[in-house]
This record gives sequence, structure tokens and C-alpha cells, in this order.
Amino acid sequence: MSRVVVVGGGVIGTMHAWAARRRGHEVVQLEADAEPRRASVRNFGLVWVSGRAPGPELELALRARVLWEELGAAVSGVGFRPDGSLTVAQHPAELAVMAELVDQADADRRGVQLLDADETRERNPAVRGEILGALSCTRDAIVEPRQVLPALRTHLAAGGGYAFVPGRIATHGEPGRVADHTGEAHEGDVVVVCPGAMHDGVAAEFLADAPLRRCRLQMMQTEPFGERLTTALADGDSLRYYPAFELPSAAALPPPAPVVAEYRAQLLVAQRASGELTIGDTHHYDEPYDFAVDEVPYAHLLARTESLLGRAVPPVQRRWAGVYSQATDDSRCVRVRPDPRVVVVTGLGGRGMTLSPAVAEQTMEELS
Ligand SMILES: Cc1cc2nc3c(=O)[nH]c(=O)nc-3n(C[C@H](O)[C@H](O)[C@H](O)COP(=O)(O)OP(=O)(O)OC[C@H]3O[C@@H](n4cnc5c(N)ncnc54)[C@H](O)[C@@H]3O)c2cc1C
Repeated sequence: MSRVVVVGGGVIGTMHAWAARRRGHEVVQLEADAEPRRASVRNFGLVWVSGRAPGPELELALRARVLWEELGAAVSGVGFRPDGSLTVAQHPAELAVMAELVDQADADRRGVQLLDADETRERNPAVRGEILGALSCTRDAIVEPRQVLPALRTHLAAGGGYAFVPGRIATHGEPGRVADHTGEAHEGDVVVVCPGAMHDGVAAEFLADAPLRRCRLQMMQTEPFGERLTTALADGDSLRYYPAFELPSAAALPPPAPVVAEYRAQLLVAQRASGELTIGDTHHYDEPYDFAVDEVPYAHLLARTESLLGRAVPPVQRRWAGVYSQATDDSRCVRVRPDPRVVVVTGLGGRGMTLSPAVAEQTMEELS
């Protein structure tokens, strides 16, 4: 058995800790904050297979979906729900893109099916707006982002061979050891650094030439919605973001509304296990980011939600922004290995929650 030092307590670091423990390695995991509070807890908790690019990205997402389900069964706090999703069409051109996806050779593996308006309402009775139909994806799933990390850590700690060390900023990593800001050194045969969007921290020298950018998203959560959403929801604007929809028929999509274009908005809705609706999002790339959130896209996203559901949603309880690290090439993530015993993993973009268990598994396979 060898010892692995993981830097970063987000979902990528935590899944690496889990994957290392699965292989019998002893793990010590350092986290800068008292409790991780960045992208991994600010997201929708969507395990999103439907929109993945065909080929390796889809296969990785499918593997991740299997692992999430296994984890959900072993660790109930993860809150895994195999609810699937509906991407709802309100324009004929959106329906045409969905129909083209369903015609692709990988449609069965994706678990996608085209539904008319009545079938959509049957699948999710809360969808009572003016709609034309929907793309159903049975492989999409939901987890609870505020619960996943503590639940996984509790599970790992119960199994032994795992120590979580919060409130420690790793200041230097090299083969065999990581030093933190208190001066303590953490020794390991392998060092895995998962810094999220903190590209300028301990991993800066390793990421200097990596194809990475950062993206800031705005999100909100309502008070509990008095009805169960049987699926996650997306709107037609999401067809512009996910690579699965880069199909010839996408050229006929109507131009985005000005607010959608300005804020690069799409609607995603995930209901929390406790009933609240998590609603987003926007995409902003130019830094420095505003420290305040902007009301304009929120009004648009609420109106879109209400237009799909055909009813008012409860008052918004919380608003926040989150930043993720995104690879700018067509790789699934950035995995830099400056030494056989050191690896830096980040850049999973808006699919990090989804892909995390499978990416961690791959890293451990590469290291072995
Ligand atoms: C608003 C939003 C919505 C999203 N929705 C989804 C979704 O629904 N589905 C999906 O698949 N993906 C989604 N994503 C993407 C996903 O959340 C991210 O890809 C993923 O959480 C990245 O995880 P991470 O561990 O790399 O980063 P983070 O969560 O940022 O974690 C990195 C951690 O490392 C710690 N750290 C950094 N440097 C050091 C250091 N020197 N020493 C110690 N600790 C350090 C930080 O404190 C932090 O806790 C979303 C992202 C955002 C922002």
C-alpha cells in the first residue's frame, strides 16, 4: 500500500481520495477552507449525460454515471436520484435538433428519446407551460451538492486509512511531499493536486502553459416548490451549449434573445431533495469578475422557468455566483504530470460534478 496526498477538498479532490482508497492506498487530503465552498458546492448537482460530446466524453460520462449510482447506493447522503431530464422545446427548430440527436447511432447509449407535448407532461406533470415536446434523457441524474463532500468524507473516514485536513493551504508540492502554510509537511508516494479554479496557487508553475480559462456563473434557489419535479429541466437555449447538439439542424435555431446572448444564459432547473428549485445559469469569461450578481439574467431565468412550468415559482431564497476551471481544447480535463509522482487535475468545466468519479478513476489507473 502507498500513501497519496490529495490537495483540494472539492469534488475532484474528494473523488481522487475515494478512488485512491478503493485501490487500497492511504490518503491524506488537504483543503484550504474550513469546509470546501467553491464550485463543487455551488452547482446544480446535475449528473448530465445527455449533452456530452459523442465518443470518449460520452463514454467517460456513462462510466461516471455508473460510479455515481454505486456511490449513491453506498453513501445515502450523496442524494443520488436517477430522475433523468427533459430538455423542453418551445420552438420547432429546437424540436428538430432534438430529433436529429435521437437519430444518432449513440442515442440508445445516451438514453434519449423525443417526446411530444402530451408525453412530456406525462413524464413530468409539473411541466404545464406552452411547449412543443422534449428530449428525454433517462441517464441524467441528480445529487445534492451541499451534501456530497461531507457525506463522502464521512464514508471514507469510517473505512479508515483516510484523513481530511481542513484549513491548510498547500504552499508547495513536489515529489514525495506537500508543504502547507503552517510549515507542516505531508509526505506521500504520490501527490495529486486538484485546485479547481485557483490556477495561480500551489499548482501555478505546473499550469502555466495549460489550455485553461475560468468561467463565472450566476445561480439562484427558490423556496420549496410545492410539487415534485420528476425530472431535471433544461430549455432550448441549452442546445447552444452542449456539444452533443452540434448537429446540422442547429444552424436553424432562432437567434438567442438579447439577454440570452449578453449573459450567455441557458435554463437548467434541478429540484433539491428538500423541494427547493436550483435555477441557473449564465456564463461570463472576462476577468476581473464583478463581485456583485446582476439581476437582469435572474429575471429572464425566472420567466423561462415559469413559462415551462406554466405557473409562478416560489420566491427566491438565495442567489450566488460560482467559478469553474475549463479546458479550452477538446480534452475532458487538464491532467498535468510534471513528475511520475505528481499530478495536477482540473479544467473539467461545467461537467466536473458529472465526470468526477470517472476522471479520478482514470488518474489512479494512469498512476498505477
Ligand atoms: C455555478 C456552477 C454550476 C455547475 N453545475 C454543474 C452541474 O450541475 N453538473 C456538473 O457536472 N458540473 C457542474 N459545474 C461544474 C463543477 O461544479 C466543477 O467542474 C467542479 O465542482 C470542479 O471541482 P474541483 O474540485 O476541481 O473544484 P472546486 O470545487 O473549486 O474545489 C477546489 C478546492 O481546492 C481547494 N484548494 C485550492 N488550492 C488549494 C491549496 N493550495 N491548498 C489547499 N486547498 C486548495 C479550494 O479551497 C477548493 O475547495 C458547475 C459549476 C458551477 C460554478
